[in-house]
Amino acid sequence: MGSVKIAGVRKSYGALEVLHDVSVDIADGEFTVLVGPSGCGKSTLLRMIAGLEAISGGEIAIDGKVVNNVAPKERDIAMVFQSYALYPHMTVEANMGFSLRLAGAPKPEIAKRVGEAARMLSLEPYLQRYPRHLSGGQRQRVAMGRAMVRNPKVFLFDEPLSNLDAKLRVQMRSEIKQNHQRLKTTTIYVTHDQIEAMTMADRIVVMHGGIVEQIGSPLELYDRPANLFVAGFIGSPS
Ligand code: ADP
Ligand code: MG
Repeated sequence: MGSVKIAGVRKSYGALEVLHDVSVDIADGEFTVLVGPSGCGKSTLLRMIAGLEAISGGEIAIDGKVVNNVAPKERDIAMVFQSYALYPHMTVEANMGFSLRLAGAPKPEIAKRVGEAARMLSLEPYLQRYPRHLSGGQRQRVAMGRAMVRNPKVFLFDEPLSNLDAKLRVQMRSEIKQNHQRLKTTTIYVTHDQIEAMTMADRIVVMHGGIVEQIGSPLELYDRPANLFVAGFIGSPS
């Protein structure tokens, strides 16, 4: 279903190569966290998987099919943006159903899928509200709901919790994990926060300066870091 194979991928902006020969194999259903310091290429890689950036070299395959030349909306992927990316003039219900409306889904189908996502995210009481009347956590849930209603093969998250305060961040991490346990949708989650990576990931991909330093479970990285960078990064407070 939602396997993602990244094979020898490169990205250049003009003469500057920012991703060098990156390879990662992600199994269907896996929760993978891409972690590394700011500027190491996490967002660039995620945007290439989503089809929002051209691939300069190598291949990306989703569900066994090379997607290098496949348009974003044909990739069966949903990207979860930060909560401020909600449409302010639309209710929660309209925000969550927007992509399905664009795709021409029938109204009862939209209502059914939005209802299911709202139930899972505890958003049922807020469906007729506008984003400005929601808390930060509720907005983040709406951003997730918008992705969930599309029932994609892969969820991509790019630092979705970075605008939230520490307490809410901890709560949202566990909600995102709970939803993953229910839906089992392949998830690639980007963060620069090693605590977030260690607590959420089935597998962690540690990036640094456009390369992959190590791939492993949180325990493997903690017990057997491949090099000093990984040891320092995983071991340091965020
Ligand atoms: P991260 O998400 O890990 O912080 P990015 O993927 O945003 O890192 O950026 C990786 C590198 O690519 C950085 O050095 C950044 O300056 C550079 N970069 C990102 N987007 C562009 C762009 N559109 N044009 C030129 N350089 C870019
Ligand atoms: Mg980034």
